[in-house]
Amino acid sequence: MGFERAARVNDDFEELHGPIPGPHTRELATHLRAVEARNVTYLADDFPIFWESASEATVTDVDQNRYIDLTAAFGVAAIGHSNAYVVAAVHDQAVRLMHGMGDVHPTEVRTRLLEALPRVLPTGLDRTFLATTGSEAVEAAMKTAVLATGKSHFIAFRGAYHGLAPGALALCGIEKFRTPFEPIVAGVTTFVDYPDVAKTDAPTALAALADRFDDRDDIAAVFIEPIQGRGGCVVPASGYLSGLRAWCSKRRILLVADEVYTGFGRTGTWFACDHERIVPDLMCIGKAMGSGFPVSALVGRQEIMDAWPVSSGEALHTSTYLGNPMGCAAALATIHEIERAKLPDRARELGNLLGPRLQSFTRHPGVRAVRGRGLMWGVVLSNGEHAERVVKAALARGVIILQAGPEGDVISLTPPLVITQQQLMHALDIIEGVL
Ligand code: PLP
Repeated sequence: MGFERAARVNDDFEELHGPIPGPHTRELATHLRAVEARNVTYLADDFPIFWESASEATVTDVDQNRYIDLTAAFGVAAIGHSNAYVVAAVHDQAVRLMHGMGDVHPTEVRTRLLEALPRVLPTGLDRTFLATTGSEAVEAAMKTAVLATGKSHFIAFRGAYHGLAPGALALCGIEKFRTPFEPIVAGVTTFVDYPDVAKTDAPTALAALADRFDDRDDIAAVFIEPIQGRGGCVVPASGYLSGLRAWCSKRRILLVADEVYTGFGRTGTWFACDHERIVPDLMCIGKAMGSGFPVSALVGRQEIMDAWPVSSGEALHTSTYLGNPMGCAAALATIHEIERAKLPDRARELGNLLGPRLQSFTRHPGVRAVRGRGLMWGVVLSNGEHAERVVKAALARGVIILQAGPEGDVISLTPPLVITQQQLMHALDIIEGVL
């Protein structure tokens, strides 16, 4: 594959020095429990570990135990943890200018980033709103859709996850996140079934959509993840995205692709929309964009983004950290690294090995299905408790994985795209041993 290191380097693998979690983690957990809002971190006897450092596809905890990371920390560390080129770019930027002035006094590094993005984005997405989190990018898309169409109702999918800030939460198709806040999110969105390739085909799903909405003229936009991430790595039926593109164009409804998780090479192409060669009207990006520095963006076609008036001194949509120079430097360096190492190709090639290996897991009792693309995979287990046991047992053996899916019954595998084939296969052996 041309990317493997010459010899097996021991640092590339897990190394545990005792029971997990170790003593330092346990001690820190008692301190954290005393000061952090109680909903944030799940603290149990066997979970989590406190991270101290990370490099490429491994993470080291505060007890010096080393783990293989199959999460890329929610998909963020696509180019590997603490990539040297990005670290240097952020360091250099920090020394010169750590913070700019949002929508007032811009920077060169912001200009260079906005010039670089269209090089890798689907053709025509050449206007950008920078932001800090994925939720903010989604909320900028909601506002843009309202301005561009004069309408204010949205279509989103069951199982969808677009972030938890109140605007984005209105698009969230996972009930447990919405229910406590229903009064402030109600009435904004109509939810439809995600066109899961295992349950439907594109013509059937598209016909259901047309049936339900062809007589409605209040829809501003459809928000879709080209592969559902937190919803459990659900892949849409082949042809659905291109069919949805055509339906939205015909109905003059905006198509918003949320590529916060799938973007920047994760699924084997720069963006998951590229698999069906579609160009959405608006696209939300984040996570891997800054390799760990918080930066995100809404990108769109000029004729839609021009629904916003020219600024005459007071932007209608901005924030303190908009276009933060360190975020821009991190994103520019990240794009450079993805291009240099051809990481979308690498995700595709490794995915071609990973898919069949994971499929073989279905011979184990309790493994219901395996689904995914590139380096974004979900293993569906019998229920949430089963998945939690597997996540904890894998951690105790030196592999970090995450639970996903509305019921928590999926284990998701989204490793750094730079993970070596040996690391990946070794980690899968450990997970299979756990299963
Ligand atoms: N959109 C998608 C598809 C996501 O997966 C996420 C986060 O997981 C978000 C939006 C929200 O991003 P953030 O957590 O940075 O607000």
